[in-house]
Amino acid sequence: MTNRRSFIKTAAIASAAVALNSFKGKPEENDFSSKKGKKPIVLSTWNFGIQANAAAWEILKNKGRALDAVEAGVKVPEGDPKERSVGYGGRPDRDGRVTLDACIMDENANIGSVACLEFIKHPISVARGVMEKTPHVMLVGDGALQFALSQGFKKENLLTEESEKEWKEWLKDSKYKPIANIENHDTIGMIALDASGNLSGACTTSGMAFKMHGRVGDSPIIGAGLYVDNEIGAATATGHGEEVIRISGCHLVVELMRQGKSPQKACEEAVARIVKLTKNRNKDLKDIQVGFIALNKKGEYGSYCIQGGFNYAVNDETGNRLIDADYFLK
Ligand code: ASP
Repeated sequence: MTNRRSFIKTAAIASAAVALNSFKGKPEENDFSSKKGKKPIVLSTWNFGIQANAAAWEILKNKGRALDAVEAGVKVPEGDPKERSVGYGGRPDRDGRVTLDACIMDENANIGSVACLEFIKHPISVARGVMEKTPHVMLVGDGALQFALSQGFKKENLLTEESEKEWKEWLKDSKYKPIANIENHDTIGMIALDASGNLSGACTTSGMAFKMHGRVGDSPIIGAGLYVDNEIGAATATGHGEEVIRISGCHLVVELMRQGKSPQKACEEAVARIVKLTKNRNKDLKDIQVGFIALNKKGEYGSYCIQGGFNYAVNDETGNRLIDADYFLK
């Protein structure tokens, strides 16, 4: 009996040791699919990632904190009225209201988020305020606005003439049909590894154009649109938020990296999960776009999406460039 008991104990310790080992993100052998970067490094989604990365890089190259870099980076498209899917100038919901979603996560697993926030140009900074100045992690709607105003953020009209015109055009037949890669959605998600080896991420969007009032996507949801684990890596997402939420997308990508997958393979497996569920649910994959980008602690990175057309920007000491993501539906 004692022998059996001590055998069970030894076996339990041994398997716990194996589990612990894989928790360090031990790489799978012969997986060279990810691209090699060098810290500091910053990645962000879509074309507007180039300008956003440039702002983040100013902080990273001077040995600044990844958290400050990602906030400064995503504020660029947030403040640009020509970017019609993020912040000021973002397309409104079906009632003509611009409602914004954003979240932020640092190297110590501090998190902050706002959803369905109106009238504030930089929701990412309000999310950071939630993280640093409240006992909570998420504020929504009026509560988020009240908090923002209490912190000195200015109340502004975010509906630009162009967005209003487009909304009025849409009202003519009011059909909600977000099309993959067509400019009626797009989020900036940014993940960075700083010179000290710390990871952080930020994600911000006006969500799907002409959505129902009150609709919240994946972007402000920690674990869906963004996740950071400072021991392993970080991931962020863009595309149809409902599908990303369904698989807790970015948390899944980071957990796959923890199990030893490269950033590239982790993104591919998360996309495969969405593909499978879409088929099981008898929905048409052609109507869906989701893209992930991921970065590990070593500065290796990867990306994958459902359909062609998604790109992301990478900035490290070798420069700032746009990369077309590989995709499933060929
Ligand atoms: N993921 C965003 C949302 O569902 C939109 C996008 O990235 O295109 O709100």
